[in-house]
Amino acid sequence: MKTVKDYIRTIPDFPHEGIMFRDVTTLFSDPRGFRMAIDQLLHPYAGERIDRVVGLEARGFILGGAIAHQLSVGFVPVRKKGKLPGKTIAQSYTLEYGEATVEIHDDALQPGEKVLIVDDLLATGGTCEAGIKLVEKLGAEVVGCAFIVDLPELGGRKLLESLGMKVHMLCE
Ligand code: 5GP
Repeated sequence: MKTVKDYIRTIPDFPHEGIMFRDVTTLFSDPRGFRMAIDQLLHPYAGERIDRVVGLEARGFILGGAIAHQLSVGFVPVRKKGKLPGKTIAQSYTLEYGEATVEIHDDALQPGEKVLIVDDLLATGGTCEAGIKLVEKLGAEVVGCAFIVDLPELGGRKLLESLGMKVHMLCE
């Protein structure tokens, strides 16, 4: 039987020469693969309270929407700076070259809510760490961070675990 990993393809030299881009669109477009991924991302949280799913732009929106629907809870986007229409709070983080900023609507989560953060891929963990900080600034609690792919040599898992996060991924 095919595993989630079998549906992911690697595109060499995207977006820059020397980068091996893990392309999950082939997983998303396959009905069996997509369902498998959503079910497996949710598996560790069976019976656990989750009030909101937070998805990180952009592929985290696709996963997060499906997971939120499955759980019958709401979905909240964390977006790159300048994309959300309402009042936001922001968090910057360091990239290999330079800095990036992500934002969340300041009324998107209520204090005490339990939040699952999802994205397609964990590399350095910088994007997810910024997402965690936004959720916590609003007084909500991150119960876990779920990803399809981990790139272990980039240290994201260690970073998130050092913050006390429950981290779960489907493949390396
Ligand atoms: P990090 O902040 O952990 O270094 O990078 C993770 C973010 O970059 C995620 O939002 C992810 O979507 C994106 N990303 C980086 N490299 C890849 C890749 O090879 N494939 C995909 N699908 N996303 C990537």
